[in-house]
Amino acid sequence: MAAEAKHFKYVILGGGVAAGYAAREFGNQGVKPGELAIISKEPVAPYERPALSKGYLFPQNAARLPGFHTCVGSGGDRLLPEWYADKGIQLILSTEIVKADLASKTLTSAAGATFTYDTLLIATGSSVIKLTDFGVQGAESNNILYLRDIADADKLVAAMQAKKDGKAVVVGGGYIGLELSAALKINNFDVTMVYPEPWCMPRLFTAGIAHFYEGYYANKGIKIVKGTVASGFDADANGDVTAVKLKDGRVLEADIVIVGVGGRPLTGLFKGQVDEEKGGLKTDAFFETSVAGVYAIGDVAAFPMKLYNEQRRVEHVDHARKSAEQAVRAIKAKESGESVPEYDYLPYFYSRSFDVAWQFYGDNVGDDVLFGDNDPASAKPKFGSYWVKDGKVVGVFLEGGSAEENQAIARVARAQPPVADVEALKKAGLEFAAKV
Ligand code: FAD
Repeated sequence: MAAEAKHFKYVILGGGVAAGYAAREFGNQGVKPGELAIISKEPVAPYERPALSKGYLFPQNAARLPGFHTCVGSGGDRLLPEWYADKGIQLILSTEIVKADLASKTLTSAAGATFTYDTLLIATGSSVIKLTDFGVQGAESNNILYLRDIADADKLVAAMQAKKDGKAVVVGGGYIGLELSAALKINNFDVTMVYPEPWCMPRLFTAGIAHFYEGYYANKGIKIVKGTVASGFDADANGDVTAVKLKDGRVLEADIVIVGVGGRPLTGLFKGQVDEEKGGLKTDAFFETSVAGVYAIGDVAAFPMKLYNEQRRVEHVDHARKSAEQAVRAIKAKESGESVPEYDYLPYFYSRSFDVAWQFYGDNVGDDVLFGDNDPASAKPKFGSYWVKDGKVVGVFLEGGSAEENQAIARVARAQPPVADVEALKKAGLEFAAKV
């Protein structure tokens, strides 16, 4: 006879960033023992995922759990497994949900266990796009690695130890590619990056911004091959990758290959059951989907971005945290017949590698206006870019900003001040932001 379903008032499906911040907010708002469960296919309590491509890969004093459980990433306390136990929040780990029936409010795990709920928060995040998905020749060879979770990070650490001082090829020029190239270099690998676009991070960086990072990386000894893609891989008799074959005919020797070519929101369990948009689960300003009592937070949510008056999906950690808090506040308010203000999100994204660190706020649309010193050889580089649309500043990027300066650019992106003279804006640079 099948075991009886376990019932919870609230279930969070997924155990990543959004799950951890949602649990903390449930704790703040008041949750009774036994009311809340987190179901995650990962074997550990929620953690700050960005650490995996940064501190986790340091050659010395590397970050390890329990050091970076949520919610340390935003300056809060670490929620250790004991915290969940104290609150009576069940962590149901190493449990993959393979079926979700929203009509009967039932989730089924790969092992056949069933869970029912009154309110569901979908926080399944994203999965990485793999070269094997496209049948790239040799892509299944050993040491061709991806990075999404701690198990992937452990594989990378093991490969770095096994192939010490070897050659690494990083496929993809996004922030994951940039951060991982830096990590491999710091670990004494001979690193080559490969990407098809004319410059790195093309979805955000302008040519002027990328000029700095590509030069900075070259000065660190990282080789960059642009305008081509990996079309196949060679392996030795053990199946270990030995070379990356490029579409333009070149061949790069490799002991480790890391692929960072993007992700896909994990929404498949809900196909046909909830409205979708922008590749995600469509929600209102409280993160409730088209099915009452079912919420979507973090990477999977396509929510109304009030500031730009359109539905958007955001795959960044700041939104994962804030959407989780908003959803839980809205759920609790609804229960007591109250309401919370609509989500009014200002997009915020950051990355850091080596000694450089940048922040971006707002929208990178319209004309870009580069300011400051973007010479890769500068001892103290500080530069940025404004984006101006319809005579207003709508987005700001800043490398090397202080906490105060970063707050100033956030204010600008939120206030969208008018700009009459673009040349004057370029000249004023950061001073413009300081005055807003
Ligand atoms: P996740 O944190 O991915 O959590 C999803 C969880 O759901 C996982 O635990 C997963 O195992 C679980 N899950 C999925 N499907 C199932 C299922 N069927 N059954 C059970 N469990 C399931 N953003 C930034 O802004 N700055 C950065 O510097 C930055 N660095 C990053 C570095 C790396 C290596 C990665 C991978 C991401 C980085 N991000 C960064 C992005 C940021 O981490 C994500 O946007 C954020 O983690 C999204 O939170 P989430 O809770 O929606 O998803």
